[in-house]
Amino acid sequence: VFAQIQKHEPAVKAYLQTFEKDALAQAQQADELLAKQGQAEKPLLGIPLAIKDNMNLLNTETTCASKILKGYISPYTATAVQKLQAAGAIIVGKTNLDEFAMGSSTENSAFQQTTNPWDKARVPGGSSGGAAAAVAADECFGCLGSDTGGSIRQPASFCGVVGLKPTYGLVSRYGLVAFASSLDQIGPLAKTVEDAALILNVIAGHDALDSTSVRQPARDYTEFLNQDIKGQKIAVIKELLGGGIDGAVRQTIQTAVDELKKQGALVEEVEMPSFKYALAAYYLVATSEASANLARFDGVRFGHRSKNAKDMLELFKKSRAEGFGAEVKRRIMLGTYALSAGYYDAYYLKAQKVRTVIRQDYAKAFAKYDAVLSPTSPSAAFKFGEKINDPLSMYLSDIATIPVNLAGLPGISVPCGLADGLPVGLQLVAAEFAEQKLLQIAAAVE
Ligand code: GLN
Repeated sequence: VFAQIQKHEPAVKAYLQTFEKDALAQAQQADELLAKQGQAEKPLLGIPLAIKDNMNLLNTETTCASKILKGYISPYTATAVQKLQAAGAIIVGKTNLDEFAMGSSTENSAFQQTTNPWDKARVPGGSSGGAAAAVAADECFGCLGSDTGGSIRQPASFCGVVGLKPTYGLVSRYGLVAFASSLDQIGPLAKTVEDAALILNVIAGHDALDSTSVRQPARDYTEFLNQDIKGQKIAVIKELLGGGIDGAVRQTIQTAVDELKKQGALVEEVEMPSFKYALAAYYLVATSEASANLARFDGVRFGHRSKNAKDMLELFKKSRAEGFGAEVKRRIMLGTYALSAGYYDAYYLKAQKVRTVIRQDYAKAFAKYDAVLSPTSPSAAFKFGEKINDPLSMYLSDIATIPVNLAGLPGISVPCGLADGLPVGLQLVAAEFAEQKLLQIAAAVE
């Protein structure tokens, strides 16, 4: 892995930091343990994995790719990361992201531009762009990302890897720097569906340190991966395979759908009328929650503190003005506005109602189907600079992934072919806690 990092990192720039010395020492220990036991007793013993740099890892810098957190050292380890370590995995580094996970191209990182390993002129997607690029360039075997509106699935799609967003509450968010708490979820990016399932096996489970963590029976998410999908009912979302979707992407998805039919799946079309409101609702809920969550970065408790402040108020103002980037500021302002007195009912409350309607549309579909299918993103990886100056067109690249977070459901992006030489991701979504089924169908796409 470190040979790969040395080879690809100068061009790809997926990592904000790597832990070569510690990782090699741990690898040595893993080898010794393996020699002694003859067979690995820990499920991920010695496997080199990475984490997105919005997760805490004891005694390492956690920046969220923001200047405001530069120099902030984590005093503890996030639950999901700690579970990986307990399973024997070796954390090789922390990957780049859009600042505070806000973005779809990783261009919002305050520190560096990660490139797409398939084409250096193109973005890796975002916000977990560093994670997806690291997996695609063999700079790790898998990586934990976070997904608030598509940030695991969309970069996975752009980089030709698998990305899984679990059901809200299945994986603990303790130690993940909060963006929008009711939408955020940690999940794996990996090379194969099986690898993603193996990582999920380790990170899933109740955690008393996260009040939204759910008690679910422990499952083996690899259990059904080799079973055929004969008779599985899959719905193609009509709204997400029409206008607005790139023609070559649509063609690639169509070919994958035909393949699923050949394997015995029953595929029909379904309408999701509420989806046209999803983007608007998301950008109200997400920015509202972000404005509250990011209030803690005040120059006093974490990270950057302005040196030019004369009094307390100026300290808050200047630290935030100097520390946050443009997109983060835009979101804090939007969210603060949406939550301000007199506007709450018109915006935030209405967005919450849309959320319920979206959930109902999915529930109707899952009464009849095992999974719903769409492209993960309307296009393949776009070029640097193409959307960064037009926030609205950037926001539109999340049109297929965002409804899933609003409904709290599990979603996965699986590579399903190429469009004009670039990877295309197929998204599958299942009912809550139906990850086993989701992974089974996803494995049939691979
Ligand atoms: N691109 C979306 C946004 O900018 C989603 C980000 C995410 O999932 N973290 O909010």
